[in-house]
Amino acid sequence: MDQIPLSTQRTARWICRLLAVGLLAVVAATTVVVGCRTQNSTPFLPSSSSTPLKDPPGERREALGEAGGAVPKGVTVFDNTVPGVANLDPDLLKALRQAAADAANEKVEFYVNSGWRSPAYQNKLLREAVSQYGSEEAAARWVATPATSSHVSGDAVDIGRSNATAWLVEHGAEYGLCQIYRNEPWHYELRLEAIDRGCPRMYADPTQDPRMQQ
Ligand SMILES: [Zn+2]
Repeated sequence: MDQIPLSTQRTARWICRLLAVGLLAVVAATTVVVGCRTQNSTPFLPSSSSTPLKDPPGERREALGEAGGAVPKGVTVFDNTVPGVANLDPDLLKALRQAAADAANEKVEFYVNSGWRSPAYQNKLLREAVSQYGSEEAAARWVATPATSSHVSGDAVDIGRSNATAWLVEHGAEYGLCQIYRNEPWHYELRLEAIDRGCPRMYADPTQDPRMQQ
């Protein structure tokens, strides 16, 4: 092995010391930066741990949730866990499931876009419709009040997709399932007399329905 000259050894030791000092400086600087960050973030901690205006209690929380009748995408009439389906009138649900079982033979599935709704959820939909259509009068063509809505009583269901409603136009009456409003091809209710006599004449829209006049 070659002998390393003394001067080179000294230089090497000097470089090492310089590196060590540099490293210390970096560590110190990092500590300061981290310290600053910790200090800066400290004042924000209480606000992030407290609950801000996200979830007001009472009506609104109920209205927005599945418990109030909101139905997640992809739910069929056979679902037993989603309240929007499970809380439908038992006779309506039975008719829907019989029809859906027969439609399945033709590869048609019955999805539920909306079913039973809590009064709070219905009210939320109404308020949204008023702001969308510009007035209560215009909104009434599409969304009923909580007091008059057949969704709130569990007697109405909004069915999708278009192949399902097309199937119902042809076969629904055999199960007592009828479209009620001409402007809502997805909205179905149970009319047991339809099994013998066919579905009653449709109303142009909900404002023509005497049940909505209350
Ligand atoms: Zn409807």
